[in-house]
Amino acid sequence: MNLIQLQKKFNTHLKCIRHLEKVRWNNKPVCPHCESDGVTKRKFNSLRQKHGATPIYHCNSCNRDFSVLTGTIFEASNMPLQKWFIFLFTIFTIQRIMTYRYICRCTLNQMTLRLNTNYIKYLVNKTT
Ligand SMILES: [Zn+2]
Repeated sequence: MNLIQLQKKFNTHLKCIRHLEKVRWNNKPVCPHCESDGVTKRKFNSLRQKHGATPIYHCNSCNRDFSVLTGTIFEASNMPLQKWFIFLFTIFTIQRIMTYRYICRCTLNQMTLRLNTNYIKYLVNKTT
């Protein structure tokens, strides 16, 4: 998949959410607070659903609400998920290129440190 295909595939918030739900839960929501799978999906009005609100679930065991974003790097971010997906895709692509180009010159720890440093700088800039 290239960047253009990624942008087309994940061109709405809801498509990103559905992908995360599949990857994180295999489409069977699990409470991130107590790991119970006894959950109920909260109902939204049609207007909110139309604008791509994040589905909220209620845990019947611990009585707390959550979404697929709870406890992830996306939770407290104001950046749209579509942009997150592009950012993460770019990071992983750069990582692959770096691996090919610098494998003879850099150790794995050096590359990991460099990528993590850039990632942290990016997050800090986005949240300030
Ligand atoms: Zn729970």
